[in-house]
Amino acid sequence: MATDVFPPPPRLLLGPGPSQVHPRVLKALSTPLVGHLDPAFIALMEETKTLLRQVFQTKNELTIPISGTGSAGLEACIVNLVEPGDEVVIGVNGVFGTRLVDVASRAGATVVKAEAPWGEIVPDDVLAAALEKTKRPKLVVLVQAETSTGVWQPLEEAVRLTHDRGALFVVDCVTSLAGCPVEIDRVGIDAAYSGTQKCLSCPPGLSPVTFGPRATEALRARKTPVQSWYLDLTMLEKYWGAERVYHHTAPISMSYGLYEALRLVVEEGLDARFARHQRNHEALVAGLEALGLSMLVRPEHRLWMLNSVRVPDGVDDAAFRTALLAEDQIEIGAGLGPFKGTVWRIGLMGESSSEANVRQLLGAFERLLPRHGATIPAGAGTQAADRVYSA
Ligand SMILES: *Cc1c(COP(=O)(O)O)cnc(C)c1O
Repeated sequence: MATDVFPPPPRLLLGPGPSQVHPRVLKALSTPLVGHLDPAFIALMEETKTLLRQVFQTKNELTIPISGTGSAGLEACIVNLVEPGDEVVIGVNGVFGTRLVDVASRAGATVVKAEAPWGEIVPDDVLAAALEKTKRPKLVVLVQAETSTGVWQPLEEAVRLTHDRGALFVVDCVTSLAGCPVEIDRVGIDAAYSGTQKCLSCPPGLSPVTFGPRATEALRARKTPVQSWYLDLTMLEKYWGAERVYHHTAPISMSYGLYEALRLVVEEGLDARFARHQRNHEALVAGLEALGLSMLVRPEHRLWMLNSVRVPDGVDDAAFRTALLAEDQIEIGAGLGPFKGTVWRIGLMGESSSEANVRQLLGAFERLLPRHGATIPAGAGTQAADRVYSA
């Protein structure tokens, strides 16, 4: 007899993704299937494109979900825009910049890194210096929300520097979309990719991408076929456009889930949703600092949806997280790279970003930290969060 694995334990997901999923999305995921060319599904595809444009804040025609997790969107942006030998400048200050370098190199790009220490932004002068090293840069790629560190990368000056050199500006907004402003059209971003499992609060499985006019033009002007058949936007747009040409079977249930998740975002309103993420971040940081913990990222570059905090001296990172999961059912993330064992990553993404969750997490920290060897002022964390919420 196989072991029963269902139902899974009722976790509270406060890590770097996936985030909590709204009951309406879970319900949508369990509704009956239709075919991927059914008129009802085509109507859902059209509505999804419209909703995605609202959430990306763009008029871009080519705005669709790629089948696969955020990494599929990352790879789609790279392989559709890069031809062998193209120069690509990539901001590297964490896991996802590092991954972009790998993907772009595999696609035949000549990569120039604009590097900064993990936990810091990529400064404009470092990007400018990297661009100086290129002859005809094709793309600049930056990660807006570096989930591995909690850094919020400013984009506007980087876009200007990129366009001055005639290159396309591509942004990873996997963690930022629907949690803080991305504003594709206003900022002048040429292409972007996201994921469903962070602030969109849908299970992992789809990756919304948007291509603006200049990126679409670069796609049309390719001299070589897109290296990936599965991610080739010139073929995918024929299924997502008026022709409805079969390419691969759309993930039907995931498409239902994304549609419902996008409706929830639009019902809440982007500004209200951003304000909610900011407020819960502020309350969490106030609480953690009142407990004597220190944040990894300087205040002006902190993300609202991913909070990196240093593990207090003397506390065993893994043992603490194990207790938090076993006793409180709360998942938080471990540190990565240079921060392995010394940083916790607390996600407040989408549905996970709530006052109740911040209070529950701080309460659990207050109870568990002393037991794991940290001296903290009793009750100070939840009181500090109270002050933020009652202000
Ligand atoms: C999570 C994430 C990805 C990758 O998404 P997956 O869903 O894990 O494939 C890419 N970039 C950033 C910034 C992310 O946070």
